[in-house]
Amino acid sequence: MSDNVISYIEMCRRERTSLQQGMNFGLGGNHSVILMSVRANAPYRDRLEDSGTTLVYEGHDIPKSASSLNPKAVDQPLKYRSGRPTQNGKFHAAAQGAKIGQRLPERVRVYEKLRPGIWSYNGVFHLVDAWIERDDFRSVCKFKLIAVEGEEDFERPAHLNAERRRLIPTHVKLEVWQRDAGKCSMCGAADELHFDHILPFAKGGTSMTAVNVQLLCARHNLAKSDRIE
Ligand SMILES: [Zn+2]
Repeated sequence: MSDNVISYIEMCRRERTSLQQGMNFGLGGNHSVILMSVRANAPYRDRLEDSGTTLVYEGHDIPKSASSLNPKAVDQPLKYRSGRPTQNGKFHAAAQGAKIGQRLPERVRVYEKLRPGIWSYNGVFHLVDAWIERDDFRSVCKFKLIAVEGEEDFERPAHLNAERRRLIPTHVKLEVWQRDAGKCSMCGAADELHFDHILPFAKGGTSMTAVNVQLLCARHNLAKSDRIE
């Protein structure tokens, strides 16, 4: 289930690794994980497109310790000096393979930092394209990811025509989190929270404004979806 609030510890337990880096290709051999942050002061410029169904994710810089150079002034590398691919290189190769139909799209779970220790699970995406872009100083890697519905079972092959899903923009999540004080708006529970669309997409509800989004605990979220179905 996507759009739920998750702690860093739960994320690591779920992915069976410590998630020390933002890009993690091929975890468990059947999916990848990226961590994102689209806040104003975030180090990378990730953006949403196509009414919130597409994420354009920026690749990663050379590590700070690798040299005395400013990482923001150096081209983002696809390979290490040894010739082995970096995380950028692994994601890039998978995206190119999917683009030309050589492989099914890599499935990527996306987690987004809302505030220290508090993350939102943004669901599963298909990695469908990658390219290198020039900014004012250097070359950066860009990755195109499509938010998809019903792709959580990694034991089964990816569906090329999976239904698209719309993300809730970060600024909306932050506004809702603050307004609802990090608690279920029905009962005040503070665990297993979920960003819920008050009026669902299917009925014309939007995720672009906090007015239509609320925090619900797992119990109230479930009770609501039972009522709708
Ligand atoms: Zn509740």
